[in-house]
Amino acid sequence: MRNLVVVLGDQLDAESSAFDGFDRSTDAVWMAECQAEGEHVWSHKARIALFLTAMRHFRDTLRQLDLPVHFQQLDGETAEPSLGAALLAALGTLQPERVIVTMPGEHRVREELTEAAASAGVKLEVRPDHHFLCGLEEFAEYVRGSKQLRMETFYRRMRRARGVLMEGDQPLGERWNYDPENRGSFGREGPGALRPPRGFAPDGTTREVLALVQDRFPGHPGSLARFAWPVTPDQAAEALEDFIDHRLPLFGLRQDAMWSGEPYLYHSRLSAAMNLKLIHPAEVIRRVCEALEEGRAPLPAVEGFVRQILGWREYVRGIYWQFMPDYADSNHFGAEAPLPGFYWSGDTEMACLREVISQTLEYGYAHHIQRLMITGLFALLLGVRPQEAHRWYLAAYVDAVEWVELPDTLGMSQFADGGLMASKPYAASGKYIQRMSNYCASCPFDPSDTVGEAACPYTTLYWDFLLRHSALLERTPRAIPQARSAQRWVASDRQAIARRAQRIREQCLA
Ligand code: FAD
Ligand code: SF4
Repeated sequence: MRNLVVVLGDQLDAESSAFDGFDRSTDAVWMAECQAEGEHVWSHKARIALFLTAMRHFRDTLRQLDLPVHFQQLDGETAEPSLGAALLAALGTLQPERVIVTMPGEHRVREELTEAAASAGVKLEVRPDHHFLCGLEEFAEYVRGSKQLRMETFYRRMRRARGVLMEGDQPLGERWNYDPENRGSFGREGPGALRPPRGFAPDGTTREVLALVQDRFPGHPGSLARFAWPVTPDQAAEALEDFIDHRLPLFGLRQDAMWSGEPYLYHSRLSAAMNLKLIHPAEVIRRVCEALEEGRAPLPAVEGFVRQILGWREYVRGIYWQFMPDYADSNHFGAEAPLPGFYWSGDTEMACLREVISQTLEYGYAHHIQRLMITGLFALLLGVRPQEAHRWYLAAYVDAVEWVELPDTLGMSQFADGGLMASKPYAASGKYIQRMSNYCASCPFDPSDTVGEAACPYTTLYWDFLLRHSALLERTPRAIPQARSAQRWVASDRQAIARRAQRIREQCLA
């Protein structure tokens, strides 16, 4: 055998760089389902199932294309303890001259593959991942040329370089950013009746996988009952069209809003399909820009959506590879509390957390503001060790792959990198949640109260956070006004805030 092409669970595209120059007479594909990949963090059952079934569908596609595929199935006889061990065993049997892989999505996995190839004495070639719009060298150049990294400067550079939503050298509509228009809430009446997004009933392959996951990962969190994710490129394309037809027009306006019982609202649900490489982000951007041209969606909605993909998605991936592995240890605020146990059950009186965690366990999904401003914000204010929060996010969501999850958790949500990625911590009191959702209406706590018996824990912890970290926040220019706003509390108020914050901590961590 000349080349063994390794395809990982988040690289399910026959056009990916690992296949360049593939010759079916001398080369073969290797894929492996590994127990350890589902257990590396305590993964949601739906996350494990999505990866496995999408891999099996991809294997079948490759076989239909007449490509030789060695596929190590989890229910098969051999069960190697890790991906690296599985590869090492395969290299012993298959004896290729070279192993080829597209850049993995996780530093640990790249290390494991490198070690396995080195142990077997086989050359490993890691090729760039063309499923991203910004190459790692291009990102490194952006870092070298920037005094300060900010998503907005990166995003404008990408729009110019790729000619997305541009009119010559100027942004379409003469504005780069429609962020201020994209913060609407619903008001008392709520979103009204929403059309459910296009789901995909499990086929035979998926049903087999769901049974396998139930059998092999019985104690893992989450439910499989709602499993309806796209698992093939055709389904991903259908999901995209469904989003454009029914949710894109209101995506911008309602991007940050939350409502009980409505997990998806106007969001696309495309993250997992893009992360597994079932659909290319360039195709997603092309189709939403076409919808704009055809008058099917307004510019603020399309710009808001494009910013998430061409901006945030590419930016966090660049940050990950630029700063790993040290980035994973960052802990700017020195937070050391464990993650409260209710993150795995939803069993808390706080209505917002109960809603978002229960929804996460039921669907393996929460939209961005639920992740950032409900679960993430609470962990930040409580002082949870960022690495514990990171393990939860990597486990809890079907779209979780480390290159995106880690910077979003550590950098954006926990400000653990001290401002390398974002300009200030996303810190807010319960009043923000009250404004953006209806959660507080069914909660025993009061978001306007700081220290009373019924004070909202977010509100108490918000002021406690600002007071505890005032020295660090004073060194972050955009956080200074918030830090100074806490100076209005007199000494007795501060003591009451600290006392109640301590009680909340004890209750949450009991
Ligand atoms: P939409 O709201 O429809 O957005 C469209 C697309 O934009 C998404 O599919 C996604 O690809 C991209 N996007 C949006 N926000 C971000 C962002 N902050 N960073 C990168 N891409 C973004 N996204 C993941 O794909 N995997 C993760 O593991 C993940 N973990 C996160 C952890 C935390 C703490 C936070 C705050 C955010 C995380 N995100 C993650 C980003 C974002 O929450 C999800 O991409 C989004 O909720 C997925 O739902 P959607 O496809 O309906 O997104
Ligand atoms: Fe959440 Fe506080 Fe509102 Fe309750 S009152 S739902 S804890 S923000």
